[in-house]
Amino acid sequence: MTSTTELMSYEEALASYDPVMGLEVHVELGTNTKMFCGCSTVFGGEPNSQVCPTCLGLPGALPVVNRTAVESAIRIGLALNCEIAEWCRFARKNYFYPDMPKNFQTSQYDEPIAFDGYLDVEVQGKTWRVGIERAHMEEDTGKSTHVGGATGRIHGADYSLLDYNRCGIPLIEIVTKPIEGAGDLAPEIAKAYVAELRDLIKALGVSEARMELGQMRCDANLSLRPHGREKFGTRSETKNVNSLRSVERAIRFEIQRHATVLSEGGTIVQETRHFHEDDGTTTAGRVKEEAEDYRYFPEPDLVPVAPTREWVEELRATLPEKPSVRRKRLQTEWGISDFDMQSLVNAGAVDAIVETVAAGADSDAARKWWLGELARNANERGVEVGALPITPVQVARVAALVKAGELNDKLARQVIEGVLAGEGDPDAVVEKRGLKVVSDEGALGAAIDDAIAAQADAVAKIKSGNLGPVGALIGAVMKATRGQADAARVRELILEKLGVS
Ligand code: ADP
Ligand code: MG
Ligand code: ZN
Repeated sequence: MTSTTELMSYEEALASYDPVMGLEVHVELGTNTKMFCGCSTVFGGEPNSQVCPTCLGLPGALPVVNRTAVESAIRIGLALNCEIAEWCRFARKNYFYPDMPKNFQTSQYDEPIAFDGYLDVEVQGKTWRVGIERAHMEEDTGKSTHVGGATGRIHGADYSLLDYNRCGIPLIEIVTKPIEGAGDLAPEIAKAYVAELRDLIKALGVSEARMELGQMRCDANLSLRPHGREKFGTRSETKNVNSLRSVERAIRFEIQRHATVLSEGGTIVQETRHFHEDDGTTTAGRVKEEAEDYRYFPEPDLVPVAPTREWVEELRATLPEKPSVRRKRLQTEWGISDFDMQSLVNAGAVDAIVETVAAGADSDAARKWWLGELARNANERGVEVGALPITPVQVARVAALVKAGELNDKLARQVIEGVLAGEGDPDAVVEKRGLKVVSDEGALGAAIDDAIAAQADAVAKIKSGNLGPVGALIGAVMKATRGQADAARVRELILEKLGVS
């Protein structure tokens, strides 16, 4: 497709074609050490300070499997309703890449540790069962930085820097079966699946699964087939999509792109693609290798993994409350409707609210701030609420100040704005910006007297029992105090002064 071709509309695309999706999600495990050596996995160390002969692929070095990583893989498999292999092996996936010094990635191929499961996700009040093909263990690659070019890509760069600290960090790759029949809900189902998987991984405690840090990333496969055709079309694979919103946008764009190409009589090439956050498009990457290009073979340096059934059952007993069950429980605790709960889930705000309540806030107040001011702000920044530079403890403090009458809502919003702008904790922002509610009754009283003197008509109506114009008087007082009065208290004082109750 050339850039001059007009993209077919989403609706038109779905009028002719059925989308088929496949989602491959990589999760970086939060183990202390790497998959096959004892090197630290702590993020942010000096480049190449967390390496050894094994993860550098030096001749003669021998790998040893990380037991905790296997345990995490089994727990993930069980949580995804998978079978756990009685016996499986690692395999070498051979390809040359400078950030992978062994020249092969130790992965699993036709013998994954977990296979044939499912994950239920809820979309528009309906449950979708997404089939899980397999979950397998592998290792991460290093990180390359290309210096000197305009694009940050290797092309045009003067030189490249390699950091092998990430090389060998345990990864679990979770691959869905083809997702068929989703129709126009496909992008939403893809997003809901990744969100549910993320919540499950977090609940298992095996990874923080923070997409913005690359701890969880999704490759989104998509193909189209004409309505009524059984055979799948050719797929594209959009790599390393790293936010929930991007998963949805990437699938949507690919549906439109495929439909445009196919309807013009063109063919879709099986290739990887890159997603661009700025304009929501994808561009071609490399033409996809076939499995035989990787010359997979069983890893001769590692013993097979043969988890006993006793161990598997022990691990099954450690599974946490399912995210869907937890959501139902929280919904009851907070006394909110299905619709309200769904809004919290969509906003990615559930954990933030749980933590804000744990820090002492009422659930109503916590919901109000995270769904209102903070969701709006996150939306503007194009991030999840959890990624905002404000903590649940800080939000709980704002709620406490409101509850104590020291801030009204308008001032509280300014405090939140200050925290988000990096001005410090809520108390520091209140102090610096001078945002306390005017509760000095003397100052309030003077502002109220002025308002009463200036609005004789309103006063007469109020005295005769028509309380409508009270709002105008409150407005005048709020204006005089630059919004820093407690409106409810002002109302009480006005009525008191006018002798109306
Ligand atoms: P690869 O390693 O080549 O990416 P995988 O088998 O790991 O292949 O993953 C392919 C993913 O795409 C799986 O989720 C699979 O269900 C899905 N898939 C396979 N064929 C198609 C197709 N024609 N259209 C859409 N998705 C597909
Ligand atoms: Mg794959
Ligand atoms: Zn190492």
